[in-house]
Amino acid sequence: MTSHQAERPSREAEPSPPGASKAGPLSDEATSSPFVYQSNSQRVVFAWGAARQVAAEVERLGRKRVLVIASEAQSADASQMLEALAPRVAGVFARAAMHTPVEVTEQALEMARAGAADLLLAIGGGSATGLSKALAARLDLAQVILPTTYAGSEMTPILGETERGVKTTRRDPRLLPAVVIYDPALTVSLPLSLSVSSALNAMAHAVEALYARDRNPVISLLAEEGIRALSSAIPRLLGDVLDREGRASALYGAWLCGMALGSVEMALHHKLCHVLGGSFNLPHAETHAVLLPQVVAFNRGVAVVEMARVARALHRDDAATGLFDLVQDSGLPCSLRELGMPLAGIESAAELALKNAYWNPRPYDQTLVRQVLTDAWHGRRPSVAVVID
Ligand code: NAD
Repeated sequence: MTSHQAERPSREAEPSPPGASKAGPLSDEATSSPFVYQSNSQRVVFAWGAARQVAAEVERLGRKRVLVIASEAQSADASQMLEALAPRVAGVFARAAMHTPVEVTEQALEMARAGAADLLLAIGGGSATGLSKALAARLDLAQVILPTTYAGSEMTPILGETERGVKTTRRDPRLLPAVVIYDPALTVSLPLSLSVSSALNAMAHAVEALYARDRNPVISLLAEEGIRALSSAIPRLLGDVLDREGRASALYGAWLCGMALGSVEMALHHKLCHVLGGSFNLPHAETHAVLLPQVVAFNRGVAVVEMARVARALHRDDAATGLFDLVQDSGLPCSLRELGMPLAGIESAAELALKNAYWNPRPYDQTLVRQVLTDAWHGRRPSVAVVID
């Protein structure tokens, strides 16, 4: 058995009875299995219009020279921060890019040093937050984050960086942002398809947290609630992308799923997304949306109770088909083919997935990973039957 194989299947592999997903308490694992819970210390401010409190939050931290970070497409958000923090701004770097390329970090590092920045403030999605963390890792500065997508990076001590086409990830408590300001008003401009794929990205954190090797009952509660909040938000946003309740519910769910991501280990799904993002430059949120139903189908036979919790949170009968139908019904791409992945790339992706492989509840090898990626490439709807090894 290699390191990425299951040491402890999360439950006896047996299909759940029809309708089990909607039944009452699914598990008393909280009291029957030992666990370790490590809380992360962060200040979270959540409100419509909370972005207006940014100057007060910087003041609270006692910092005087703020480097404002954003993606290019969000230069307007960066300008808003510049206005709100005017005398305290050490510089504005609005060139954050997906998957945190090291060469971009080096340019931002120059600006931070030239401006003698003593605080990093990122407004944007995971790309802006990723750059903030990459700078924090090099400069040991505190961070304030205003998330505008549902990626969840602001709640984690994790940094993924890309260099020469390879994405590497590290976890360090010093990377955890000090303050997170959640303002649903900042998310209303997020286009509908990105809103839904980003919501699926958030759900993926919660799904893998539920069957994580180091899962614990507190994070499992947050994970299930996060999926519920996001899945109730999606139809609202599909009906009206400006829906206030939908936006607030989605951001609340993203917060919970981000906490799940930041607290326990992720598994095969996240490994595959890192490989496809880092080596094939596939769009982050959309890749999560395509792969999640396939990986859940792969894992559900050994995580029966956990995946029934996912189904319950989604109000569907089965987690894998429920997630697939959610992606399809939302009009998102269901296949890696549609995201621009070359069919010929599957073999090398499967090979890369086995390098520094992640633990997964169901053991896997290159052949099995190739099958998961092939199903994802074609966008095949998972079968209802549960596969048991
Ligand atoms: P992103 O930050 O690149 O945003 C996608 C696009 O949407 C960008 O062009 C951005 O400018 C735009 N955008 C963002 N918010 C907007 C808004 N409200 N209105 C209009 N446009 C908006 O993508 P993402 O999916 O948020 O994050 C992906 C990145 O985050 C990846 O690099 C991924 O690896 C990383 N990530 C890291 C962690 C972690 O814990 N380290 C967790 C999740 C994601």
